[in-house]
Amino acid sequence: MNRRQFFGGSAALLAVGGIFGKYLFADTACSMEFMAQDFEKLRQEMVDVLKSRRIRSKAVLDAMSSVPRHMFVPQEMRPYAYQDSPLPIGLGQTISQPYIVAFMTESLEPKSGMKILEIGAGSGYQAAVLAYMGCDVYTIELLPELAQRAEKTLDELKFDNVTVRCGNGYLGWVEEAPFDAIMVTAAPEKIPEKLIEQLKDGGKMIIPVGPVNALQSLKLITKRGRRTVERDLLPVRFVPMVE
Ligand code: SAH
Repeated sequence: MNRRQFFGGSAALLAVGGIFGKYLFADTACSMEFMAQDFEKLRQEMVDVLKSRRIRSKAVLDAMSSVPRHMFVPQEMRPYAYQDSPLPIGLGQTISQPYIVAFMTESLEPKSGMKILEIGAGSGYQAAVLAYMGCDVYTIELLPELAQRAEKTLDELKFDNVTVRCGNGYLGWVEEAPFDAIMVTAAPEKIPEKLIEQLKDGGKMIIPVGPVNALQSLKLITKRGRRTVERDLLPVRFVPMVE
């Protein structure tokens, strides 16, 4: 899905939601009844928080004000989907906090047409944000149940420029390499060499590196020929990247 298709679709959804929203959401597990416009309003408030936290990229803010984050979390979590906090998505995993999604996306500087590898598909939300920006996204998830769910959500929302695979992210995606950029959303203890190999020359990788159960360092790595340049951006706490 690209921006134009999405706006067409979401305008129609909003119109339908306005009329039938109460009925559409009435039999969900939510204790409150949420309509499409309620989520829209909460989403814009989330974007205001991102702006106040110095996210500047218009492309990132546009994507996050359009991608329906509530569709990527379990139904009982939907009322909280637009709070600036991580949320459980089942199987002990989490969808990252909106600020971290925005910060990582902005730091990677994705451009339309770029081929991007994500490690840790989780809910599929981060992949959707990159896809909305026009990137071709390849995302790997270790847990089959999450991989299937992410694929289903992305399909239903017509993000046809995302490919989900169930597998071990340490190996990367050899058949599709090299990538313009790589985003890792689970934390390994060391930078996986195979991922650097699958990055184009001049390409960037953003990755949280460090021990389990402690703060990790979010690193931005740029590949320069056979060397890499590393920058520490932010202390973060991610779920571990399982070996
Ligand atoms: N980007 C996700 C959030 C990721 S949470 C989102 O937008 O929702 C981190 C995810 O990494 C979890 O789903 C976890 O199962 C997955 N993961 C952990 N180790 C992995 C590995 N070695 N390969 C692929 N995925 C892994």
